[in-house]
Amino acid sequence: MTNFPSSLLAGYTAFRNDRFIQENRRYKVLAEKGQAPETLVIACCDSRAAPETIFNTRPGEIFVIRNVANMIPPRKPDGEHHSTSAALEFAVTALKVKHILVIGHGRCGGIAAALTSPSGSREPGDFIGNWMDLLTPSTQKVLAEPNLGPAEQQLALERASIIRSIDNLRTFPDIKQREAQGKLQLHGGWFDISSGELWVYDSDLGEFVQP
Ligand SMILES: [Zn+2]
Repeated sequence: MTNFPSSLLAGYTAFRNDRFIQENRRYKVLAEKGQAPETLVIACCDSRAAPETIFNTRPGEIFVIRNVANMIPPRKPDGEHHSTSAALEFAVTALKVKHILVIGHGRCGGIAAALTSPSGSREPGDFIGNWMDLLTPSTQKVLAEPNLGPAEQQLALERASIIRSIDNLRTFPDIKQREAQGKLQLHGGWFDISSGELWVYDSDLGEFVQP
């Protein structure tokens, strides 16, 4: 006997009897030939912002890294355990993805935590606080802006964090090099979980626009 969640088992049964059968050929090819996704997506852990759902992708299409507030820390080769950097390295050097998308979303709890608990002296075990401190310069900038209400601060930091992560992607030499060679493109996006709108970062305009 196990107490495996029945809702997950029901979902699995539906998948096995429907989508897995429909996509059976695709799964077999992927199993035999391996994966070759062209896009790496960095998304938040938030249960409402799953990139496979938002972009309606099929198995094998996108390689996904999810963490709190879809962040890329700057490269830091210090011998610690960097799960995001490890997955990033695999996607870039082994899979040779052609696109990297950092996708943020509205009502992000990680961003809200950064705004309500700005950095100070953190306990080493405050993992969320320490993680969100990656954004400290952006958080301070947003909090210092006059005339921004809480919702506007939230949106401003959600979007600033995406741009910051794109900047941090370029601290990885392989990414910087592949981008310069035209083999890799970096993108930013923001998804509104309430309206379903997608906004994408226009690097020429320096702002998010609806595609
Ligand atoms: Zn989030």
